[in-house]
Amino acid sequence: MPSSSAPDRWSLESWFSGFGAADYLDFKAALVRDVEVLRAKAEVLADDCPAIVAVIVELEAFSDRLGHLSAYLGCLTADDANDEAVKADEAWISTLDAESVKLSATLQSALASLSDDAFETVVADPALENATHAVRRMREAGQKQMSAELESLAADLNVDGLHAWGRLYDTLTGKMEFEMTFPDGHQETVPMSRRRALMSEPDRRLREAAFHAGQKPWNDHAVTLSAALNGIAGTRLSLYGRRGIPHFLDTPLFDGAMSRDSLEAMLDAIQTHIELPRRAIRAAAKLQGTPALHYFDLEAPQISPPDEKELTWDEACATVDHAFSAAYPKLGAYFREMLAQRWIEAQPRAGKRPGAFCTGSQLKHEERVYMTFHKTVHDMVTLAHEVGHAWHSCVLRPARSFAANYPMTLAETASNFGEMILLNGLMSDSGITPATKAHLLDQEMLRAHAYLINIPMRYEFEKAFYTERAAGEVPVSRMSELMTEAQRKLYGDTLLPDGTDPMFWAYKMHFYITGVSFYNFPYVFGYLLSQALFARFQAEGASFLPRYEAFLSMTGSATCEEVVKRSLGEDLTDPAFWGTALKALEPSLVAYEDIVRGR
Ligand SMILES: [Zn+2]
Repeated sequence: MPSSSAPDRWSLESWFSGFGAADYLDFKAALVRDVEVLRAKAEVLADDCPAIVAVIVELEAFSDRLGHLSAYLGCLTADDANDEAVKADEAWISTLDAESVKLSATLQSALASLSDDAFETVVADPALENATHAVRRMREAGQKQMSAELESLAADLNVDGLHAWGRLYDTLTGKMEFEMTFPDGHQETVPMSRRRALMSEPDRRLREAAFHAGQKPWNDHAVTLSAALNGIAGTRLSLYGRRGIPHFLDTPLFDGAMSRDSLEAMLDAIQTHIELPRRAIRAAAKLQGTPALHYFDLEAPQISPPDEKELTWDEACATVDHAFSAAYPKLGAYFREMLAQRWIEAQPRAGKRPGAFCTGSQLKHEERVYMTFHKTVHDMVTLAHEVGHAWHSCVLRPARSFAANYPMTLAETASNFGEMILLNGLMSDSGITPATKAHLLDQEMLRAHAYLINIPMRYEFEKAFYTERAAGEVPVSRMSELMTEAQRKLYGDTLLPDGTDPMFWAYKMHFYITGVSFYNFPYVFGYLLSQALFARFQAEGASFLPRYEAFLSMTGSATCEEVVKRSLGEDLTDPAFWGTALKALEPSLVAYEDIVRGR
């Protein structure tokens, strides 16, 4: 029904007048021209400090333009996944991306080969004001490279080596299907991509059937998948050795701009307080009437959303606005501006890609949020999450680009903060029914044990696997053993005696992402840090918000430890900090346990 409640369509016209329009084509042509010019300059840098500074500044401006066009194309493909002309330009821009990566590598090695004195002259240049952190990281990255010739060989070989293993995983699993007998007795061939949704169904018989039937392809292909995972880890370990990187965690930690000490402190605190998330699982098991959970129960809601009337887009926006404005007026005003400027895409339409994201242009200083609104509370929470991300970019607008790129570890703090403001507003809203509140608490508990048990479990597995892989190929049986051990270590007795999933190493796509390694602990970090920030906000009220904004504005120009120390005065290497963040879960946990007792 077309009414004022139809979810918003976004506008991208302030970025380009249209795909294929004259301004768009000119912009493309200029990028191609300028990458050549910049490459020529980068190749003759040697130890010419003023020339290095000039290339850094030019690369920054070039990256803004490349990012602008990339974000535009990303928006268009998400909006219409079948537009072939847009797809062709996306493929084209990925080659330009590769060029800019090579350019950065050339610059990084130039910085790495400078003497300490010469390098200090470079960073002291007024043209690089506030870019010191980024430039130091470039030099550090350069110091961890092989010679330019070997790096270039590695990049070429990785296309058919490292990344080919990842593509093999995608190809193999993309076609996977399994035969499943549904609880009503009918049989169906189900694509593997549906398995996770089936395992999130409230009907336990459905989850159980999907889990057991869905194990077959993973067992059938275990040898191939283990070869892929061994190949990925083996390639990385060889490259680390050649680059003089002593430990396999060094690169993911560098990417996350955090120290090993902080990681250890966080993991220690999780082990110390592991009973908190385990209590959430025990309560869920009690609701389900089983002594513990099976692996296939972990993502299932134990308290389903009540059958209330559908939420309209206008109601969802009004609720988010109300929660934001009451707790954080600037965030509320920003959200209203996003709506007024048509920066949010939410309309359900055929051809749209599923999922949600926030993107933006450093060139236009504008953000965009992409999602599809299906009239559920869950979608409203997604809206608050993505607007939280957008607000982070908005706070960083005054910063130069080389001071505005934050690591994955710090990326999810603002989004979780936005989400928590909404959820907290809902929980204290008298208009919300007890049934909805119980459902929201159940969701919060699902998230808590996913972040505090499941993701740390993936880290434990990966760490054990990389340690053994250094001595040679790890066979299938050992992979499954390591996986089972990691699950027992984190879940303890909250998983039934036969409730582990030994094949999770084969199933979980994150292990096969070749662009990032250890795609797990940064999530835990972001989750816990946002819990800590929100707990501080609740304790201190509005006077905390300027410090929150100081935190956001520093995220692209310092390490995680420095950002948190300077903005919050906290020490990330101290397990006590993480312990406090974990304990922030307790009030919701107790409320959840009360509900469980009352049922
Ligand atoms: Zn997010």
